[in-house]
Amino acid sequence: MTDAWTTLLTAADGSRPTLCAELTQDWPVGRIEQCERLGLISQIAPFAAVACEGCGGEFRDVVWDDRPAAGRCVAYVQCAECGLYRVPTDTLRRWRVEWRGVLDYLRTVFGVRGRCEELVPQRLWRLGKVDWTPTPATLFCARRLQQRDAAEILERIDPIATAILLTPCGVARVSTAVPVVPLDLVCHWDGASLAVDRDYVSAHLRPPATEPSTRPPRKRGTRTALIERLAQELSEHVRAARDHAVATLDRGGAPVLLPRPTRRELARRCGASEVSVGRCLRDESAHELRFLWELAADLDRLLDRAPVPH
Ligand SMILES: [Zn+2]
Repeated sequence: MTDAWTTLLTAADGSRPTLCAELTQDWPVGRIEQCERLGLISQIAPFAAVACEGCGGEFRDVVWDDRPAAGRCVAYVQCAECGLYRVPTDTLRRWRVEWRGVLDYLRTVFGVRGRCEELVPQRLWRLGKVDWTPTPATLFCARRLQQRDAAEILERIDPIATAILLTPCGVARVSTAVPVVPLDLVCHWDGASLAVDRDYVSAHLRPPATEPSTRPPRKRGTRTALIERLAQELSEHVRAARDHAVATLDRGGAPVLLPRPTRRELARRCGASEVSVGRCLRDESAHELRFLWELAADLDRLLDRAPVPH
């Protein structure tokens, strides 16, 4: 069972941020109404068609009877094979997640001051600052970081020491210098209100710099991080490829080379664009990355480096 907050965030992070009745059936009584009052969700038109239970899930139209004689509004499924039967109207309900409302509520819950600024439409916001002691923080929030343009979007975050990036849910392969804090981990419903684990957020802050910053320009920092990330991916691949080559050789056959991941595949794994992967591979400082890239395509070299069998 997924709790209400996580369900809401998961929906908010999807391409169509909607919730249906089925997703909310485990929510505690009153939570839906509360989320509506807080402006986190708003009800939209109910399902106009549902899978018919009688004939193997074919989608059939829902018809509504709102004549006063019917009492409250009643819904029926109209199926050419199974006829007309009543369905509970509650099961047809749907809501849209109001992301702007979620951000406003988060600002209240975190005690953020300053203006909320949308840096990339529908994707990235600067929420404002929190005066936490001992370390104040600047909160950013991004959604849909599973998309391949994530790296470009995150370049828009000021690389300041106090920056924290909030995301609806954890993102596996995002490369950013800014600490990422998933909202489904750091907040939870505590009775009627949402509680924040401030210590958890603060623990992600980088210690304040003690000497004047000599940080390289932002682009450079992002690329260095991506180069490291790519090298890590390739080094894992090389290890697997070597094991595979040795295993196939040991079985008495010809050694088999595991296909090297393409640039596109690497880009997908690292949440970057194919173009930035290309730039990293050409980067002057990326010696290790290029070494691994070439090694991954060279069966002989892979086997030379394998332990010699006794
Ligand atoms: Zn049917």
